[in-house]
Amino acid sequence: MISDKLGKIVSLCKRRGFIFGGSEIYGGLSSIWDYGHLGAVLKKRIKDAWWDTYVERRGDIVGLDSSIIMREDVFMASGHLEGFNDLLIDCPGCKRRFRVDKMEKINEKVYRCPDCKEENDIQINQPRKFNLMLKTNMSATEDNPYYGYLRPETAQGIFVNFMNVLNTTHKKLPLGIAQIGKAFRNEVTTGSFIFRMKEFEQMEIEYFVAPCDADKAYLYWVKERSDFYIEKIGLKKENMRLREHEKDELAHYAKSCTDVEYNFPFGWSELEGIANRTDFDLREHARVSKKDLSYFDEDSKRKFIPFVIEPSAGVDRTFFAVLCDAYKEEEVKGKMRVVLKIKPNLAPYYVAIFPLLKNRVELVELAKKIFANVKSKIPAVYDDTAAIGKLYRRQDEIGTPFCVTVDVDTLTDEKVTIRDRDAMRQERIGVDKIIEFIKEKIYAND
Ligand code: ATP
Repeated sequence: MISDKLGKIVSLCKRRGFIFGGSEIYGGLSSIWDYGHLGAVLKKRIKDAWWDTYVERRGDIVGLDSSIIMREDVFMASGHLEGFNDLLIDCPGCKRRFRVDKMEKINEKVYRCPDCKEENDIQINQPRKFNLMLKTNMSATEDNPYYGYLRPETAQGIFVNFMNVLNTTHKKLPLGIAQIGKAFRNEVTTGSFIFRMKEFEQMEIEYFVAPCDADKAYLYWVKERSDFYIEKIGLKKENMRLREHEKDELAHYAKSCTDVEYNFPFGWSELEGIANRTDFDLREHARVSKKDLSYFDEDSKRKFIPFVIEPSAGVDRTFFAVLCDAYKEEEVKGKMRVVLKIKPNLAPYYVAIFPLLKNRVELVELAKKIFANVKSKIPAVYDDTAAIGKLYRRQDEIGTPFCVTVDVDTLTDEKVTIRDRDAMRQERIGVDKIIEFIKEKIYAND
C-alpha cells in the first residue's frame, strides 16, 4: 500500500519527467524504471557528489569502471551462485510472493499476508529458495550456450581487478577502489517504486587495509558515510539513523555490518550497508582463479591478504530519499504550493529565466539573451509557456533554487527580479550580477 506522501512523490516524478515506467508504452516492466531529463540530472549530481568526495579529493582512493557482465567462476568464488538467495513464500489467498526476512513474524510458522490481510493469519507454504542472479547466454548459437552473469553488485569487478589496480597505481595500503555502476537482481518483492528495482545503480568503495587495521577503518567508514548524507546530500539528521546488524543477520562474508537507514514514508529502510568483509573475497578469488592476490607490506616485510571495508550505497535509494526529504506542501496566499527543497547544488537547474510578459517581443528577446549567457556558466532553463505564477510553481516543484524575471524596467535599468525558492523573497539585481549571485549562494557550503 502506498502512503499519501509516497503517492504524491511518484506522481510528481511522472508529471515533471523525473521517472517513467520501464517499457511503458508496452504496459511496463515490473520493478524497472527509466529516468527522464530531470531525473537523469539529479542522479548525476548525486553520483558526482560521491565521486568528487572520495575519488577526486582524496589520495587514498582510485576509480574503476569494470564490466557489468562477468564470468560464472567469479560468482562461484564470491558465493553468489550458491548463496545469493531469498527465501520466498507465496500467499495461498492472493498468490502474492514475499521475502521471508521482510515479513512481520507472528510466530515461527504463521504470518499475516501484508497484501490481502486475510481475517485470519494465513498458514504460508514452505519457503522456497530463489536465486537473484540474472544470467545471459553469450554464445552466438542457441544449441551451444555459455553463460555470463549480470553482476548483482559492483564489488566483484573491484575484487577481480585488485592486482591490476595495485600494480598500475603503485599505491600502498590503505587503498580504496571506488566504482559507480549498474547492478542487477531478480527481486521478487516489488511495488516500492525505485526503492527496490531489478536494475539499479550502486556507489561502492572497497577499502583494502591490513587485517589489524580493519576494525578501526570500519568505524571510520560508518561515521564518514552517515555524515556524507547530511553534509553533501542535505538529508535531515532526524531522518537518518544507523542500525548495526545482529550476528544472525550478517552475510556469509561479513564480520560486522551497519546499515545507514532513512525514514522513508513506508518506514525506516536501508540506504547503504557498511560491512567488514574480512579477507573473504580476495581469498576466495585467489583460491578459485589460482592467482596470488596477497599484498606485500614493505614496512613490516610481511605478506598478507588484505581485509576490506565496504561502504555500499544505492544511487536510486539516495535519489528517493532526496525527494522524500525535500518534498513540502505549503500554503501561500490561500493556495497550496508544492516545493522540492533540494540542497541547491543538487538541483537539476540552479536558475530559471522568464520574461514577465510572453507577448512583449523585446522582453522575450532580452530574456532569451540573458538565458543564453547564464546557461553557458551554470545549469539554467528558459520558460515562457505560462503566466508568471504558474512558471514559479513549476520551478518550485522541481526544486530550482532561483527564478529570474525580466520585466519592462529591465529594458532600461538592466536589472532583473530574482526570487529564491524557499523564502520566496524577491530582490532586484543587475543583469551582469546574476551568475555571481547564484554561484555564491549555491556553493556557499561546499
Ligand atoms: P535489502 O536488504 O534492502 O535488499 P541489501 O542488504 O540486499 O538490501 P546490499 O546488498 O547491501 O543491499 O546492497 C547495497 C546497497 O545497494 C543497498 O543499501 C541499496 O542502497 C542498494 N540496493 C540493493 N538492492 C537494491 C535494489 N534491488 N534496488 C535498489 N537499490 C538496491
